[in-house]
Amino acid sequence: MDLNLPEDVRMFGDTVRRFVQRELDPIADEVEESGHIPEAVVQSMRDLGLFGLVIPEQYGGLDLSAVGLCVVMEELSRANLCFRILITTNNGIGSLGLLYAGTEEQKRRHLPPLASGEKIGCFALTEPEAGSDAASLRTTATATADGDHYILNGSKIWITNADRADYFTVMATVDRKLGSKGLTAFWVERDTPGLTIGRIEPKMGLHGTQVAEVILEDCRVPTNARLGAEGEGFGLAMRVLDHGRLSIAASAVGAAQRLVEAMIDHANTRVQFGKPIARNQAIAWMLADSATEIEAARGLVRMAAWKKDQGERVTRECSMAKLYCTEMACRVADRAVQVFGGMGYMRGNIAERYYRDLRVYRLYEGTSEIQRLVIARQLLNP
Ligand SMILES: Cc1cc2nc3c(=O)[nH]c(=O)nc-3n(C[C@H](O)[C@H](O)[C@H](O)COP(=O)(O)OP(=O)(O)OC[C@H]3O[C@@H](n4cnc5c(N)ncnc54)[C@H](O)[C@@H]3O)c2cc1C
Repeated sequence: MDLNLPEDVRMFGDTVRRFVQRELDPIADEVEESGHIPEAVVQSMRDLGLFGLVIPEQYGGLDLSAVGLCVVMEELSRANLCFRILITTNNGIGSLGLLYAGTEEQKRRHLPPLASGEKIGCFALTEPEAGSDAASLRTTATATADGDHYILNGSKIWITNADRADYFTVMATVDRKLGSKGLTAFWVERDTPGLTIGRIEPKMGLHGTQVAEVILEDCRVPTNARLGAEGEGFGLAMRVLDHGRLSIAASAVGAAQRLVEAMIDHANTRVQFGKPIARNQAIAWMLADSATEIEAARGLVRMAAWKKDQGERVTRECSMAKLYCTEMACRVADRAVQVFGGMGYMRGNIAERYYRDLRVYRLYEGTSEIQRLVIARQLLNP
């Protein structure tokens, strides 16, 4: 594994870092308070190509390697995680199902507007009764007698970016008795009759982006909206999630890095008992532990990404990276609140915001327990 970043990746990472410092960092708190990202900033993100990082060049994207994607995710997570959340569905769960299993005609039609950020994609798997146990989902896909359409019925919850999405990768079952072997993926467009957006759920953090319910009531989609064959949906979802987990892991590293920098600044300037609090070993060790864990986490992410770029199947490595990096980032956020003291508990403080925002990284795209399950399964049944 080459630890040096390729020159183009390094340069693009620097460009994103400058963009984050110049345009995103100054509005990080405003996004938190207002609950949305200003349109002018979204446009700047489009102009930089951020919506099409992983989409191949022939469909208008930047076609970044996995290592490149991880570098960008780290940088983009240094201001407010919502900036990453906004682009992450187009760069992962909301586009990859189509990229991996769509027809050439579907890709030519839908990937370019996703790459440019003109359209937003999302991924609708979770249901009220099916979270970690995704294979038990209840949304049905029933083929019509003439074989030209499917009728989708069911409801999805907490779907990231659904409120503004144009395209929905919907997971449904063609036969519940088949379990995971019945799962089938569909590409559903926003204006399809029968698809409606339900409640936008208030949440603990990530206030600048929304999650919403997606309701499918006799939603009729053409047969060619199916991604892959009937029964291939579960495998497709797992492949898409491998990628998503790596992206979250990299983001967790970037967030933790930003927090440790904020902790260092504060520890050097906050004076108690006549000296900066950094001069107390209790505080210095929190910084040392955090910095060490961040380096270990970054190494794990880069290794998984590098292996992915070599064409290896990296399910285990992506789960390891997500597990370690997200738990690490939450530990760092907890220490950051401690180092900031009471200030770290107050609204408007960076530690307070990241403490809340990062918590979900241990839950979605597979909880920490599910990552352990995936890793253990591979260890026990190599
Ligand atoms: C902010 C946010 C955004 C989201 N965005 C999306 C999205 O865009 N698309 C989408 O489809 N979903 C999305 N989700 C849903 C998310 O993926 C699920 O919340 C997650 O998969 C966990 O499912 P659950 O919440 O139903 O928890 P449950 O499955 O009910 O789990 C509850 C607890 O039990 C544990 N548990 C469950 N099974 C086991 C087991 N076998 N062994 C050990 N422990 C177990 C879990 O780890 C967890 O601690 C989002 C969720 C949130 C909070």
